[in-house]
Amino acid sequence: MRITDVRAIQPVAPNSPNDWRTSLGQILVAVDTDAGLTGYGVGGGGLAGVHVVATVLRDLLLERDPDPVEQLWDQMYAHTLAFGQKGIAIMAISGVDLALWDLRGKACDTPVAGLLGGRTDLEIPTYTTLWDDPTDAQLDQHRAFKMHLERCTGEDPVAAVVTAVRRARERLGAEHQLMIDAWMRWDLETALAVEQAIRGSAVEWIEEPLPADDLQGYRQLQNQASIPIAGGEHEFTAAGFRPLIDERLHDILQPDVCWCGGLTQLVQIYESALAAGLRVCPHRGAELWGLHAVAALDPQPLAESGRPWMTWVGGQPPIQDGVIRLTDRPGFGAVIDEDNLPAVSGSC
Ligand SMILES: [Mg+2]
Repeated sequence: MRITDVRAIQPVAPNSPNDWRTSLGQILVAVDTDAGLTGYGVGGGGLAGVHVVATVLRDLLLERDPDPVEQLWDQMYAHTLAFGQKGIAIMAISGVDLALWDLRGKACDTPVAGLLGGRTDLEIPTYTTLWDDPTDAQLDQHRAFKMHLERCTGEDPVAAVVTAVRRARERLGAEHQLMIDAWMRWDLETALAVEQAIRGSAVEWIEEPLPADDLQGYRQLQNQASIPIAGGEHEFTAAGFRPLIDERLHDILQPDVCWCGGLTQLVQIYESALAAGLRVCPHRGAELWGLHAVAALDPQPLAESGRPWMTWVGGQPPIQDGVIRLTDRPGFGAVIDEDNLPAVSGSC
């Protein structure tokens, strides 16, 4: 089998947030072959990511055998090294890598979970992310919740967070799990103060309390915190995760398969983290692109709910009663309707 084309667009996602998640939003990558099979993957970087695919990665992959995905990943990384390593170039590679894995599954009529040695018939527990108090319907549908705390600012952010956490715990009761997410907004002093103040609220983890590159801050935080620290949503490649794992700077690693380098890197991150006795909980792991790895590789699976505006990816299994289950469709099982996929202007 040979690759005949590598295409990328940024599909319009009308309800995506008015921030980088739209301007540099998720891209669809399609890898066509002379066998008539097309593999699909989702990467990131918006039109900048599309440009990397169209001008660098496509030329590298045309006429190549798509099967040795890991070798092709190394070559894509080497080809983008001068301007890549992290960020948009790796987001683009992620989409291509996922499309190649999708092809690998389709070529042998096997779901990606099966390629990884796993099964598709498992019920995988999920959690959902909240920006506000949970509704009654959400309490019925989900068993675990993560609260975003970006709104807790002002003169005394620590007090605002503590109030929000206590209110959430009261609303959820003891039977629902609760996690919190600071999205890199705190400094060390704030993180330490919050961690101490909420120890009695049964919080499962504190996510991204510090900026992703504040490794010294994470060292100090890990020395003093008793609540597990989660992070890695904004880190790239298995090499990038190495210091986080080797120094145990996070208790829970959260790579995003659509921008950390794709499944090839997620598999390596799982291997390193599990060997170190750390947990992996991929960012938005309930989306098809990460769910196969969660199902196949994770001894303690917990899949985060996906992005509601990613409606252009069909075939996404629903979350019901707090769990999700894969289908038996080959590859990732995504259903892409290319004929009805308006693209952001400038896509090629
Ligand atoms: Mg997060």
